[in-house]
This record gives sequence, C-alpha cells and structure tokens, in this order.
Amino acid sequence: MPTSRRDFLSLSTLGLTAIGSTLGALAPERSTASPHASPAPSAHAAPTPLDPPIVELEDFVYDIENGSKGWVGEGGSAKEATVEEFPVSQSIAGVSMRLKPGAFRELHWHSIAAEWAYVLEGRVRTTVITPGGTTSTDDFETGDIWYFPKGHGHMLQCLGDKPCHFLLGFDSGHFSEFGTFSVTDWVSHTSPEIMARNTGLPASFFAQLPKKEVYIGVGKLAADTLPKNIDPAKPTSAFSHKFRMEKDAPMQEFKGGFHKIVSSVEFPIQNSLTAVRMDIEPGCIRELHWHPNADEWQYVMSGTGKVSIFGSHGRVKTMPFSKGMVSFIKQGYGHYVENTGTETLKLIVLFNSPVYQELSLNDWLTANPAQLVADHFGMSTGQAATLVNHKEGIY
Ligand code: MN
Ligand code: MN
Repeated sequence: MPTSRRDFLSLSTLGLTAIGSTLGALAPERSTASPHASPAPSAHAAPTPLDPPIVELEDFVYDIENGSKGWVGEGGSAKEATVEEFPVSQSIAGVSMRLKPGAFRELHWHSIAAEWAYVLEGRVRTTVITPGGTTSTDDFETGDIWYFPKGHGHMLQCLGDKPCHFLLGFDSGHFSEFGTFSVTDWVSHTSPEIMARNTGLPASFFAQLPKKEVYIGVGKLAADTLPKNIDPAKPTSAFSHKFRMEKDAPMQEFKGGFHKIVSSVEFPIQNSLTAVRMDIEPGCIRELHWHPNADEWQYVMSGTGKVSIFGSHGRVKTMPFSKGMVSFIKQGYGHYVENTGTETLKLIVLFNSPVYQELSLNDWLTANPAQLVADHFGMSTGQAATLVNHKEGIY
C-alpha cells in the first residue's frame, strides 16, 4: 500500500501516529519525525514514526569466482557479479575474465557504463575509439589499469604465450543485461544488402555469417610490436586510457599495510571512479571510517579477512571474505576491514566517484574536546585524552 508524504502529513495532523510500517521509509532518521506527535494509543500498538521498523542489512559479500559457472568457451571464460548475482551492488559490477593466448574479447561497447580493469596476471592489448574518432592501442602488464568511458568502442586481447586474467569493474550494477553491444551481434543481424552498401564487401559474405555474437573469439597470437590501424591516418587519443597502478600510483605506507589511491587527479580519463590498491598485514585492521561521497566495492586478490559495516539504528553486520570474493559498502556506511588470516590480505577497491574522500572515527573523536567525548561514553576526561589520534590507515 503506497503512502505519499502528503498522506503522512495529513495523518500526523490528525494525531494518527500509530499507522504502521508503511511510514518507516518516510522517517529514516529519528529527528525528522515531529516532536509534537501524539503518544501511541497503547503500549502494544504498532511502531510509530518515532520508532520506525528496522530493516535488516542485506548480505554484502559475493563469491565472484565460485558463485556461478559464468561463460566458458574455447578462448576463455568470464564470471560476473552484477545486480543479478549480487543485488546490493547497484552502482558497481565486476567481471573476472580469463583469455588464452591470442584470444580476444570482441569489439563492443557498453551503453550505460564505463569500463575499468586491473590486470591480475599476464599481458593484455586493448584498442579503443572515442566519439571524436581518435584511437588508442595499448599493451598492459600485471598491475596496470585501463578505463574506457561509457559508450566508447573497445576490444581486449591476450598477448604473449601465457593466459591472462583481469578484473573488470563497471560504474553500473546493471551494465550487463541491458547494455553490452557486440560488433558480431550487430553485423550478423543486419540485412546483408545494407551491410554490403555500408562496407563495400559482398552481400553473400554477410548472408553466411552465424547469427550470434562471438563474445570471446580465438585469434592469432598478437605481435609484440603495436600494429597499425587499417587506416593509419586516424589520430591518437589525447588522454591515456592506461595507468600503471602498481608502478606509478603514490603509496601511503602504514604500520600494518599500504594504500595506493588512483583518482581522476592521477588518471584524468577515469572520471567516474576512484581505484585503490590496499594491503592489510595479518592481524591488522583498516581502521573504522566512512566515505561520504561514494559506495565502495572490494575484490580480494589474496588472503582472508572480514568486513564489518554499520548501517545506523543499531545495525552492524560482519561477513568473512577471501580470495576471489567481492564486498560492497554503501555510501556513508561506517566500516572496517580485518585481516583474519596468516597471509597479506590484498584488495582492489573501486569507489563510484572520481574524487576520493574518507572520514575516520579516530580523526573525528580527537577533533572534539575531551569533556564532550567523555560525556558521550561515560568515561573520564583523562581516558578521553588518551584516545589515539588519526592514523588514516591500517594498523
Ligand atoms: Mn567491455
Ligand atoms: Mn572504506
């Protein structure tokens, strides 16, 4: 039963406060409810807007490597974590893709999402074309990242004689089911006569094409030197689509690990996301903090840990994760990450904002007078004065 805000206001005016759970969503914060609301008619009445029902926090960890079979073919494989598999992650989706030497993820674009990637293993060549007609062909090694803005046509190919593995990130959880457009899908479903006029090739060639997309195709092993375009006169893109994250990202070192932040400051074309590489050593925590401007999506490269989130109204949920799993923390939710294993917990993190922001609990508490903090928790001012200062990090 939908209840509009207007209904809510008129019912409040009448003093009908015990109108049940449909109003919960209208009063997300206690202070928004009217201080003049009438008391509930009896102690056993339904919750009032002053005491809205609490919705449990959703699961926020998903096993991308083992959660589903994914796509498997002769040239490679792909496993997804979109809203289908991982509903909490509305703003970011991920794909773990493996290609065999020479295999290629065919020419395609994403209509509703930009594509980001981190190379986990091996070497990859990409091509991309921008709306201005400029192009770029780049080779990537382990630890490099790429970024293709929404709608830009691109391709990925495994270089060298070893397979490659990379993690793709998209700035929409819905990117897959509504928005991936492949060149073979388009060409094979378009009239052969039109294709002949469009390309100068014979209609008979297009008439015999299989009516399905290639997705991951088997190709010839690429040369180590960058090949020329069919039309070598096409100009090169002004902005690089490649950033050497492990090699060139500024590193913040902490007692228990490190942070490497790559925002649009370091990598200008990456204008919808910020990427972070984080290591947390055994027994250490990434301290309690929150991000006021972005959701956070984490992929575990190696190690074992747990993530704990705070979603207001007494809702705290802690979930374990390990290699090949992803977690998702909504914008503004408090959280920490703990390494519970015996090896380094290595994470790749994405935020759905090109600007990196965080607030730390320690930084906040120690920015207040000792008496005030003491009064919050019933401690002495002496105890409050010993609170640790902002470490902005991992220890
Ligand atoms: Mn793509
Ligand atoms: Mn965080």
